Amino acid sequence: MITSQQDILSQIPKVDRLFEWPDALPLLERFPRPEVLLAVRLTLDRLRESVRSGALTRLPENSAVIAMISAELHRRCAPSLKRLINGSGVVVHTNLGRSPLAHAALQAVNTVSAGYSNLEFNLDTGERGSRYSHVEDLLCELTGSEAALVVNNNAAAVILALSSLAQGRDVIVSRGELVEIGGSFRIPDVMSQSGARLVEVGCTNRTHIRDYLTAITDSTALLLKVHTSNFAIVGFTAEAPLAEMAALGNKAGIPVMLDAGSGCLIDLSPYGIGGEPTVRQQLETGADIVTFSGDKLLGGPQAGILVGKRAVIEPMKRHPLLRALRMDKLNLAALEATLRLYRDQRQALAEIPTLRMLTMSPKELSGRAERLVRYLRRRLPESVALVRHPGESSAGGGSFPLLQLPTTLIEIKIAGTTPSRIEAALRSCAIPVIGRIHRERYLIDVRTIADADFAALLDSLQEAAILLAEK
Ligand SMILES: *Cc1c(COP(=O)(O)O)cnc(C)c1O
Repeated sequence: MITSQQDILSQIPKVDRLFEWPDALPLLERFPRPEVLLAVRLTLDRLRESVRSGALTRLPENSAVIAMISAELHRRCAPSLKRLINGSGVVVHTNLGRSPLAHAALQAVNTVSAGYSNLEFNLDTGERGSRYSHVEDLLCELTGSEAALVVNNNAAAVILALSSLAQGRDVIVSRGELVEIGGSFRIPDVMSQSGARLVEVGCTNRTHIRDYLTAITDSTALLLKVHTSNFAIVGFTAEAPLAEMAALGNKAGIPVMLDAGSGCLIDLSPYGIGGEPTVRQQLETGADIVTFSGDKLLGGPQAGILVGKRAVIEPMKRHPLLRALRMDKLNLAALEATLRLYRDQRQALAEIPTLRMLTMSPKELSGRAERLVRYLRRRLPESVALVRHPGESSAGGGSFPLLQLPTTLIEIKIAGTTPSRIEAALRSCAIPVIGRIHRERYLIDVRTIADADFAALLDSLQEAAILLAEK
């Protein structure tokens, strides 16, 4: 036994001998030499390992060895950040890149970034301009605010606002709103990073306007309300409405800030997504400043948007932190194009993918599921079975934590295997598919699978079926 193992081991070629095989040369033409050498070494090591462990009792054909090296090279040279198919039904999925961009936004990114632009150049005067000018008027028009500013993301917007308004002074926040958004964004930590002192008032479940009133001192700089994005407190609860906070702030001469999290520019209640005032309404209610994300409900690129009173926003434009938090031109181009779509609400609902997915009717979704199943069935092997089930999707992005939107799910069954192996196989495809397992079923939600994804989904299902059959 040992002797025969050593026999096989001695037949495994040395690295430079392998390059004498005719099939190996094309690899050197297609991939960088150091990568090829590494892939060859790794593959030969793996072969030796398999022989020693007894998993391999015969050396594979040369062509099979080349195929292994080629697969290793493709794995190593494929981009790390890549497209995937979101079958989770979570529309604004932070781990999956939040909002897909509208066509107009993609075009703007292309046009602006392929060449030079007037990013900070005033074409009217021929002098230096401001990068913020490209979206400020639009934001004021869409929200009714006096002034606006944009930064890298909403976390940056909150840090900038707190640093500008409350450094070295007190900020009053309800204990029911000391949220952690994930990725280490926690209100108390952000507060201390900004040099502001957190003054907690009320209780986890109940905070009243009198709690804010009694906490106000000479060092109070700001009353802050934070959208409890990703959780809900239910039962015996109370919170001070923004209107009451605004009235109190107004009387005391203290600005009121709302971290709205998702920030909504359109009333979505006709689509069963209710209870969330628009940013315009929040400003009308009396908030001096509202901050929100560009890539959550808004459906644009990563951005942090600040809108509100001129006297509050103007000093932020000269704050030293702004340079470090500033938005880049690609995102700025995408944001401007996305905001322009909001000038016509019907256009925004039709063309911004996030809004489109959130407002699809159950009938439309079941129609899409039917079309997708028909498309796939005609092309997939018999071993793959597809079954439609009613289910629920969620908005995600910390926008409506309790919201469940009726949808149609497609269960994927592959003969002779389990839901968790299907999940793993689809996740490992060239274009990965992300679904979920619920009650021993592997499910994908058609709400987040665009028509443009159908062909890629077919490819991935075929790839997964082959992968699972080999095992
Ligand atoms: C999401 C969120 C943030 C962080 O926004 P980013 O754009 O991800 O930086 C801050 N506050 C609230 C309430 C949020 O929901």
